[in-house]
Amino acid sequence: MSENKNHKSSKFSYKDTLNLLKTEFSMRANSVKREPEIQKFWAENKIDMNLGLTNKGKNFTLHDGPPYANGPLHMGHALNKVLKDFINKYKILKGYRVNFVPGWDCHGLPIELKVLQKLKNEERRNLDILGLRQKATEYAKKQIYSQMEGFKRWAIWGDWENPYLTLKKNYESAQIEVFGKMFLKGYIFRGLKPVHWSPSSRTALAEAELEYPDEHFSKSVYVSFRITSFTKHIELKLQKNNFNEHVSKNIGNFFILIWTTTPWTLPANEAAAVNPKVIYVVASDDDENIFIFAKDLLEIVQEKLNKEFHLLFDISGSELKGIEYKHPTKDKLCPVILGGDYITTESGTGIVHTAPGHGMDDFNAGLKYKLPITCIVDEKGNLTDDAGIFKDLNVLKDANEQIIEFLESQNLLMLMEDYKHRYPYDWRTKKPTIFRATEQWFASVDGFRSSALESIEKVDWMPNSGKKRIKSMVVGRGDWCISRQRSWGVPIPVFYKKDSNEVLINQATLNHIQDLFEEHGADIWWSWDEQKLLPPEYLNDAKNWKKGLDTMDVWFDSGSSWAAVCNQREGMQYPADLYLEGSDQHRGWFQSSLLTSVAVNNKAPYKTVLTHGFALDENGRKMSKSLGNVVDPNIVINGGANQKINPAYGADVLRLWVSSVDYSVDVPIGSNILKQLSDVYRKVRNTARYLIGNLHDYDPSLQSVSIKDLPILDKWMLHRLGEVIDQITSAYENYEFSKFFQILQSFCVVDLSNFYLDIAKDRLYVSSPNQFRRRSCQFVLSRIIENLAVLISPVLCHMAEDIWQNLPYQVQEKSVFQRGWPSIPAEWKNLDIESKMSNLRKLRVEINKVIEGCRNQQKVGAALETEIMFLPKDKKLKEALIWLNSSGNPEVDCYSDWLIVSNFLLIDNPFEESLLTVNNEFGTIQIQKAKGIKCDRCWHFQEFTFKGKQNTNLCKRCAEIIK
Ligand SMILES: [Zn+2]
Repeated sequence: MSENKNHKSSKFSYKDTLNLLKTEFSMRANSVKREPEIQKFWAENKIDMNLGLTNKGKNFTLHDGPPYANGPLHMGHALNKVLKDFINKYKILKGYRVNFVPGWDCHGLPIELKVLQKLKNEERRNLDILGLRQKATEYAKKQIYSQMEGFKRWAIWGDWENPYLTLKKNYESAQIEVFGKMFLKGYIFRGLKPVHWSPSSRTALAEAELEYPDEHFSKSVYVSFRITSFTKHIELKLQKNNFNEHVSKNIGNFFILIWTTTPWTLPANEAAAVNPKVIYVVASDDDENIFIFAKDLLEIVQEKLNKEFHLLFDISGSELKGIEYKHPTKDKLCPVILGGDYITTESGTGIVHTAPGHGMDDFNAGLKYKLPITCIVDEKGNLTDDAGIFKDLNVLKDANEQIIEFLESQNLLMLMEDYKHRYPYDWRTKKPTIFRATEQWFASVDGFRSSALESIEKVDWMPNSGKKRIKSMVVGRGDWCISRQRSWGVPIPVFYKKDSNEVLINQATLNHIQDLFEEHGADIWWSWDEQKLLPPEYLNDAKNWKKGLDTMDVWFDSGSSWAAVCNQREGMQYPADLYLEGSDQHRGWFQSSLLTSVAVNNKAPYKTVLTHGFALDENGRKMSKSLGNVVDPNIVINGGANQKINPAYGADVLRLWVSSVDYSVDVPIGSNILKQLSDVYRKVRNTARYLIGNLHDYDPSLQSVSIKDLPILDKWMLHRLGEVIDQITSAYENYEFSKFFQILQSFCVVDLSNFYLDIAKDRLYVSSPNQFRRRSCQFVLSRIIENLAVLISPVLCHMAEDIWQNLPYQVQEKSVFQRGWPSIPAEWKNLDIESKMSNLRKLRVEINKVIEGCRNQQKVGAALETEIMFLPKDKKLKEALIWLNSSGNPEVDCYSDWLIVSNFLLIDNPFEESLLTVNNEFGTIQIQKAKGIKCDRCWHFQEFTFKGKQNTNLCKRCAEIIK
């Protein structure tokens, strides 16, 4: 679209007689300056979420998952929030009542640690809980403010004046209500239970706070437990096998062989568990020591222990029950018990050392056999009195080593080796965790698991694989440990009796605390004493109770947001229409929200769950500072220190990137991709500029054209525009923004730039201003630009508004966002011309290629210097050409004008002479030099010309226009 073709020559120029493009809408976006100006215009005119709130249509609630209030924004935030904004802006334009309340997750260990790390030792020692909470609040709010500024710059619309924060009073109060309802339904209980415990941060951790580094090695040991007595049944079996001697004299030489990767748990041993379904062997070594272990593992164990075993006899797992052995480190006897299918013969010995205080399977086996649930580790990871002679050793430091040494001294250690396996680490401190039985508060998932699974079925999961994912997680998940031994959170609202540890929670205490939090916030829990925290009726009894000091798992905080936000804010509804987060949230927010909502209201908090992948670099690698491949959204928008390497692309290009990717999987971003996107951006912008620039003397209210009078080309263009509106609408409806991106590009390039606008140049520039062939084109351009602006506005919101502000005529709406989503007038639909036009367009592409070939061979200069002869092979194509010629508007629907050549002839026999002849599937295409003389105004070649100024030549129509 080079509208400023230089009319070469020393001759007189007719440039001033052409209707050239005029507009203030610049080719360059100048986003760094222009985007903030547009945002200011929106703010001043309440062009934002206010539009959503004043809409009268059906409600649409997209509930924001709260990012953690820590650290600068990254591309993951951009992907997430921009996707949400596409949807909200689209729904607003569609007339839905929409309110988007952005949120932040504010409590939890990472912020608590950040605050503590900033303090000097002295300060840290003097900091009480309220002081810490004060500092944590300040820290979180500062982070929130800085993230919020970023989100706003991306043009994310939402209630920024009043976002939801998990540290706000009304939020904390709503959370207590959720907890209270779950408690009163019997879903919350207190129990001693092994939990993932982080000695390095001295707290219990949730599944979501664990990570599994690749290179974890444990010290694994094969240990023999000395048998002290057999059951009668086994004694008989031994006798049968002539073991009388051994049994009576050398019982001390019988061992069961166990294997463990946590030697420090051996002092907590309470039993050895076998699988009743597994076959075991009784086998002796060369020193007449006799061992029992799983038969399947015979070869491996022989090799590992470097021993030759002599098989004496087989015995089933169920027969081993009742054997007693001497505890490996203490002076006591322990039983062999029957465990479950967690005991396999894939590794180890098929016999599992059982410490019920330090493992989940062990804990369950312990419950079944009423074994003591002994916990031998304190919160720092130091062994306690219960560990006997190993007291004070630390499980992450010296405990393993010393215990292994001890076993060796007792001749019980058969082998020690490093063992690589998946082992949970604290996500924060990057140190190993342990299982440790502590008194904790739990949500009993068993109590509402089936209801949760039913609710999952009713939700629309996009992609559908998400359903299977969350389902398997909910099926397999144990009780949810919701208590934390931290200060920065919402307290578990419970009192314990001072003398008996009896628990006090009931409707009255819960209501009282909920009201207190609503009024004062959760700090009150630490600043007030029991007398005031308990309801008035406990006044006299208050001295006998002490408040609990545990806080709630942060997943309980964010998992209560449906109650604190969707259920409370104007313009929102519960269940929400949509939750949209990264695919890791199946085990995080999607799940915790589901569990609390199902437990309280027996339904999921969302109707649809949509997930997106993660942002990677251009080579598909994770972004990391050490790799130097981090793309910073702020630099994408404002440019980097070196603008040649990191130009300022503006928020629209960032948003265009989000629309361009298949976000259902991980998505790449980098400087090459950004450059390509900015090219696409520029293509759209220049298309818009061309449209606006050619409307400078047009006003649709004055110069409107009736659709039935339009030339075929214009009818087709409106029909095509209708199709594009349809396709883009369905792309937004289905959240398939990459389809929008593709449709937009191909519309701008293939339909507009290469076809309609290419042909339109002659109509727009050369015609006299009021000529119908020009006005009808302008009418179509005005329909395109107004609709295009709306269609791109959810994604390229600044450009869309910039277009609107630069429309050269009056429109009713001050902002593009007040226009509403386009509907397609019935008379635009024109299916009759569809197939004929499709044939004619295909032929045009083909003929253009032939002309291009001719130009490349330098046989002709411009296409207008040629004349095309065409002998169609295809009957339908011939019909289409005749149809165009007979029923089209002769000033517009002239195929030579479509080809931008000086003449087009439909022929019955090929010419003998031509510049170039090409035979293809369409027929025979021939080119020859156009006859006649070139018009100095329109450059068409005409046989009859007139003399213009300074001896110039003018064609008939130009001569008339000039006159
Ligand atoms: Zn002319």
